[in-house]
Amino acid sequence: MKITCTIFLLSSLLNLAFSQTKKEIKYDLSCLETDAISTSTSLFGDVEKDLLNMFGTEVTIAEEIELGETLLKEITNTFTFIEKGEKLKKIEYILSKLKKEIFSPKGFDYKIYLIDTTMLNAFTLGGKIYFTTGMYNFCTNDNEIACIIGHEIAHNELGHINDQIKRSKTATTFLGDDAGGVTAMIGNVLTTPFNQKNEAHCDLVGIDLAYGAGYAVCDNVKLWERMSLDEDSDNIMGIFSSHPYSIKRSDCSKRHIESNYNLKCPK
Ligand SMILES: [Zn+2]
Repeated sequence: MKITCTIFLLSSLLNLAFSQTKKEIKYDLSCLETDAISTSTSLFGDVEKDLLNMFGTEVTIAEEIELGETLLKEITNTFTFIEKGEKLKKIEYILSKLKKEIFSPKGFDYKIYLIDTTMLNAFTLGGKIYFTTGMYNFCTNDNEIACIIGHEIAHNELGHINDQIKRSKTATTFLGDDAGGVTAMIGNVLTTPFNQKNEAHCDLVGIDLAYGAGYAVCDNVKLWERMSLDEDSDNIMGIFSSHPYSIKRSDCSKRHIESNYNLKCPK
């Protein structure tokens, strides 16, 4: 009897897992394929990821979090944080809502920091997310902020940063390139752009988190349209430095929202 119950319980759990799988969102990145360069970059990204998984050094979540702590110390010494006020409260609140929407979280303790600079940037390491006041002011509403913070969460949850660290560690181990220890590794991780496919994937996952938290995600389409007008500005870095070009990201977002959420985003 006990065995039967266990089997029943197991099959119920499997059914649950199956029904959640069925509801899974589809990530169609074919919107990138009109650009020959982006397609080859993403293919190379896949091959490289497979090689890293086979031969690369393992990187745990705990290591990622530890590197995040080290980066926080370095950023504290370099930049000024806004430590109180409405802007900080708002991004903290948006993060708290998005966190609840993560499907199968990897275990990061997400925190967000507001850096006082006109640079348009957002970046992340080990669950710590950095958002600049330049970026805050560029966003016209909470929906846009939510999509950007969601994008940064996605880099952690999809293992993109783990791959960057793995790449850096593997180079150190196999190529003997031990030129600067942890600081150099963090530098590599932050300055090596993610490939276009990763960036576009994070846009879409960011939209999913924002949609789940109740934000109007069509605003992400407008955000990237606006960004495309500003594309050559020197102020743009980080989240924007490895294109898909903004207008393409806008198109990818629109297609994702319309095919998965039955919404029509106005152009
Ligand atoms: Zn990104």
